[in-house]
Amino acid sequence: MSAPTAILNADLHCHSQVSDGTLTPEQLAARAAANGVELWALTDHDEVGGLHRARDAAAVAGLNYLTGAEISVTFAGITVHIVGLGFDIDDRALHEGLRRTRGGREERARDMAAGLAQVGIQGAFEGALQYVGNPELISRTHFARHLVATGVCADTSEVFRRFLTEGKPGFVPFKWATLRDAVRWIVDAGGMAVIAHPGRYAFTPTEEYALFTEFIAHGGQGVEVVTGSHTTADYVKYAEMAKEFDLYASRGSDFHSPDESHTDLGALPFLPGQLKPVWEVLEGRILRPH
Ligand code: AMP
Ligand code: MN
Ligand code: MN
Ligand code: MN
Repeated sequence: MSAPTAILNADLHCHSQVSDGTLTPEQLAARAAANGVELWALTDHDEVGGLHRARDAAAVAGLNYLTGAEISVTFAGITVHIVGLGFDIDDRALHEGLRRTRGGREERARDMAAGLAQVGIQGAFEGALQYVGNPELISRTHFARHLVATGVCADTSEVFRRFLTEGKPGFVPFKWATLRDAVRWIVDAGGMAVIAHPGRYAFTPTEEYALFTEFIAHGGQGVEVVTGSHTTADYVKYAEMAKEFDLYASRGSDFHSPDESHTDLGALPFLPGQLKPVWEVLEGRILRPH
């Protein structure tokens, strides 16, 4: 028998300037390679606009490459992220679905700025825009960078805590894609859908069970077990959930920026050896550098 395939430095979750990261796809590929990543995917929020560059940069950097995206979904009133991997970059229905999911971000951002103005923070929309690399993808992260740069908060996590989460002045409730649509777009484009960082959602156990069950019913097959936003206890819990629900396990840093992310590209524990890794199924979708 061959060595367990779970032992691979795969990083299948990170962000570029095409969404809310600060590096270019080329800089990310070079950094991943320098950090010893063996299989890489760029997963910008609701956007595949960086993937041709990422694919070419992966080839230059000598990385095995999978296409990727992280789709914003609303499930049981909570925002959930679904990562798609290994889909066809040019799939039209996926492009259209993502375009619709991105739509409304500008209006949401104007409403966020209005909420911040009410607590005395003026000009936040224009301020956030200065950090935006993709005009269709203004996000809370860009507001956070602006409020740190202007000295309102010491770091981005303080901005989220004080201003950008449920019930705070800059928070605007928003309806993203449905779980069903997001999974369908990915699967119909030949890819695998993966529940991103399940440890981050404020679900009751019943709601979490419903998320996993419905995700699988729609054709979802994977779950992130080892990610930058999971604790060691989360690794154990979601390894068990992966086994219980017979899901493939994924691994990704969720790297956004050298200045903000505490988990660098590829700098994660390996997947627990007894899990089936997503790359086992995605074998035929991996682009190899030569
Ligand atoms: P949005 O899609 O505009 O709602 O922004 C979501 C993004 O905000 C996530 O992808 C993270 O990059 C970032 N984010 C969410 N919560 C936090 C937090 N507590 N601290 C820092 N960044 C966060
Ligand atoms: Mn993000
Ligand atoms: Mn996410
Ligand atoms: Mn992410």
